[in-house]
Amino acid sequence: MFLENYVKDISKQGSLEIITGSMFSGKTEELIRRLKRAKIAKQNVKIFKPDFDNRYSSNKVISHDSNKIKSISVKNSEEILQHLEKVEVVGIDEAQFFDENLYNICNELANKGLRVIVTGLDMDYEGKPFGVVPMLMASAEYVTKVHAICMECGNLAQYSYRKNQNKDLLLLGEKDSYEPLCRKCFQKNIKNL
Ligand code: ZN
Repeated sequence: MFLENYVKDISKQGSLEIITGSMFSGKTEELIRRLKRAKIAKQNVKIFKPDFDNRYSSNKVISHDSNKIKSISVKNSEEILQHLEKVEVVGIDEAQFFDENLYNICNELANKGLRVIVTGLDMDYEGKPFGVVPMLMASAEYVTKVHAICMECGNLAQYSYRKNQNKDLLLLGEKDSYEPLCRKCFQKNIKNL
């Protein structure tokens, strides 16, 4: 389990943490867990998500198991900077749907001494690197890859397999559109298309 390196002395050194993996791997639950611990440590926390991800609620990050935390919806990564007065810890959910400038913004904030925790899909439904997330992984101090369980064989899954073949990358993830698969089962299903 991820343990915070430092809690009270955050003003001296910022950092970037990435929580990534396929759909249904528990990324948002892990983000919420870390942010709740930061709040217990009396740190000023804010959470952001792209504003078109309003499948459950427009002002809360809500994970699939209904664990929730209040968040701010923003239209683009630049807008995050308008909400950071006195903030010490920044959480960002669904980073794969943000513009590429999120890379610069997260690094800028970490350089200034903030703790930045980002979740996002590392791969799209074709198994290719997804948006800004792989770039963020490259410059992060800590990368945590969480796994789902393969719906076909029960092994660890890292792919988000799209059952219907809609080519729109922004199609948001509901259980009836996607399922997590391991490498072997993902390859088998991709070949059968
Ligand atoms: Zn499998």
